Amino acid sequence: MDYLPIFADLKRRPCLVVGGNDIAWRKAKMLLKAGADVKVISPELSPLFQQAVDNGQLTYLGEEFSPHHLDGIFLAIAATERKALNALVYQSANQRQVLVNVVDDTQRCSFIVPSVVDRSPIIVAVSSSGQAPVLARLIREKLEALLPQHLGLMATIAGRFRSRLAKTVTSFPARRRFWEQAFNGRFASLVAAGQVESAEYELEQLSQGQSSGGEVALIGAGPGNAGLLTLRALQLLQQADVVLFDYLVSDEVMSLVRRDAERVCVGKKAGFHSVPQGETNHLLVEYASKGKRVVRLKGGDPFVFGRGGEELEVLFEHNIPFEVVPGITAAAGATAYAGIPLTHRDHAQTAMFVTGHLKAGSDQLDWHTLARGNQTLVIYMGLMNSSDIQQQLIQHGRDDTTPVAIIERGTQPTQKIFKGQLKELEELAQQAASPALIVVGEVVNLSEKLHWFGKQPQPAYPSVDEQGAVVKLA
Ligand code: SAH
Repeated sequence: MDYLPIFADLKRRPCLVVGGNDIAWRKAKMLLKAGADVKVISPELSPLFQQAVDNGQLTYLGEEFSPHHLDGIFLAIAATERKALNALVYQSANQRQVLVNVVDDTQRCSFIVPSVVDRSPIIVAVSSSGQAPVLARLIREKLEALLPQHLGLMATIAGRFRSRLAKTVTSFPARRRFWEQAFNGRFASLVAAGQVESAEYELEQLSQGQSSGGEVALIGAGPGNAGLLTLRALQLLQQADVVLFDYLVSDEVMSLVRRDAERVCVGKKAGFHSVPQGETNHLLVEYASKGKRVVRLKGGDPFVFGRGGEELEVLFEHNIPFEVVPGITAAAGATAYAGIPLTHRDHAQTAMFVTGHLKAGSDQLDWHTLARGNQTLVIYMGLMNSSDIQQQLIQHGRDDTTPVAIIERGTQPTQKIFKGQLKELEELAQQAASPALIVVGEVVNLSEKLHWFGKQPQPAYPSVDEQGAVVKLA
């Protein structure tokens, strides 16, 4: 270990910045944020620096550095463009045992400043010991994403409760168990939901040995590409004890689940063994009642054709606390990755999301409304009924040459797009596999220009046979 990481209390301590450029100003700002008594030496100051001096936030000591300026200084930072001057600051500081940092010159540093994730009072510092600062920054960004914003508030509330806890729970191991349970359980979720009073009440209950048990997070996994998960989803996936997931959830997303978590597939898929909805509801209640942190992971958004609402109603009836994390629904994700804007000032003022999974002969859909022009129609689960959809839309007035696209496995590396006209919808659907979305509307044509992800869309025809001749699709 080349450096000892320490957290210095700089409040009211005299610190010196030599240099007046933007970088020097950033360093001065950092010291001010930590409450230091900042002094600056430089012939010129950048405008913001000057403003801070004028406002009395820091003290201007003069134009030219001389070693005596370091007398009584706790730490110094040199950020000038003059190498000799930086070296002089370094040397003089060392002679006086003053901590010193020359910016971007690890050889001339007796301390270095880490990359910081600030969730005060929680502070995470990352350093590459000056070897690869960009790598340290990338690590910081990852942590930034992983550590929820409410961490600071959680630590503050915990801090307030510490002395009370010491009175009721006297043994140290018991107190450690208490905090582990609190930070991993309902207390943490209540802070995340902004319910400070309930969170404090939860600590009280826990300290009397009354755990409020498990809870469920209903999470949208998005259309498959793990990059489209929300940060909250990622955080909860990494804390879960049990994950109940659907077939639609991609392997890429499942690979982000905490390694020790139990994984239970409760998928529903036409033609495959399915877990009945009642069984899924029962499992959710059972796991949560055992005190587990349960994640119910669904493709896309859990409230869009996902029966998420029904599952939550069951939890509500059993008094099991829950939270909902929205996901990117397939209609938004797949069209974005296919270069098809859902609305466009010239082509579509409305976008409608409907399910094509209809009972035979049912009139659940208002075809008259769905067939209107100037709108984009996105049909979920529509492959099986494509012939009916095509007929009904045309019968109810939609032009049979309206552009259509079928997007299979949207946003995933295996994404495929089949394009044609409304009168060819059934033929296109025969080539596509589930999961796929049907998009009907003029906006489909924009994908010619806006397509950016994966392979180019496949036109319905003309298409080329093995000998290179142009053929119509079968
Ligand atoms: N809750 C999900 C929808 C569940 S219904 C959501 O918000 O996206 C299942 C249907 O969603 C599939 O039949 C298909 O029509 C559509 N779908 C889900 N993921 C998809 C994807 N990656 N590409 C295309 N369609 C998808």
